[in-house]
Amino acid sequence: MGFLSGKKALITGIASTRSIASGIAEAMYREGAELAYSYQGEKLKSRVEDQAHATKSSLVLPLDVTRDADIEAVFKAIKDAWSGIDIVIHSIGFAPRELLAGGYLETVTREGYAMAHDISAYSFAALGKAARPLMQGRAAALLTLTYLGADRAVPQYNVMGPAKASLEANVRYMAAELGPENIRVNGISAGPIKTLAAAGIKGFRGMLSVAEKVSPLRRNVTIEEVGNTAAFLVSDLASAITGEIIYVDAGYRNVGLPYVSESGE
Ligand code: NAP
Repeated sequence: MGFLSGKKALITGIASTRSIASGIAEAMYREGAELAYSYQGEKLKSRVEDQAHATKSSLVLPLDVTRDADIEAVFKAIKDAWSGIDIVIHSIGFAPRELLAGGYLETVTREGYAMAHDISAYSFAALGKAARPLMQGRAAALLTLTYLGADRAVPQYNVMGPAKASLEANVRYMAAELGPENIRVNGISAGPIKTLAAAGIKGFRGMLSVAEKVSPLRRNVTIEEVGNTAAFLVSDLASAITGEIIYVDAGYRNVGLPYVSESGE
């Protein structure tokens, strides 16, 4: 019996089999969770249905987090099917591509800033707000995905930095408010992984190569590794962990300067 047996979970943010949410869904399914999925736009529907089929799920729901009606409809469908929910995985982020190439001040706009924050940060609060009534009395958990750019300035990450900083503040405020209801809220700060969203950041290949050279483990991380940590964090094994950002980055954020040998390697 897996450590998520009996848990019912919503997985958002699958755009391809390389999506971080896809690695999370696989790990959670392996540990016995029953899954529902959301997809954004008809284009992604069949891909998400394939993953749902592979994890014996038939609840596949449309969700554009900029639409309140979609959020309401998703949780109504979950209430009808399951009457409650134990876990919400928020694996959603977006900023207009032109804001992710060049300098921060050079590219930032009022509209782009608002959009990045709406989709990447506010949406976590919106999902938490909608899930809350369905999570009562269940030792429930919400989890989001963030990146080091929330905490440190990272070239080209630009407006996503402030958006992720806002998301991480959401983790703490939501954890504080939902803790008395035994609902936990955490974030995973993942190292760079080649996904569709990542491909939108100019110079992403450079981020992968620096992380590989500088991380204590001297490699990049995988969606399977993020998935395993996510499965743990939303399970009862992590019952005293809330309001935290857990780094799954091969140790990168703990290094101040790259460790190089005398030969410069
Ligand atoms: P991904 O596969 O492209 O997933 C991003 C997901 O967000 C996609 O399914 C995307 O759908 C969805 N999304 C965007 N706008 C949305 C909206 N309005 N409503 C609903 N869904 C929307 O990329 P990923 O790398 O797995 O990203 C997942 C999360 O991990 C993001 O929060 C990202 O910032 C974070 N993260 C990624 C990395 C990395 O290096 N890859 C590192 C740390 C953290 P569409 O494709 O239709 O837009």
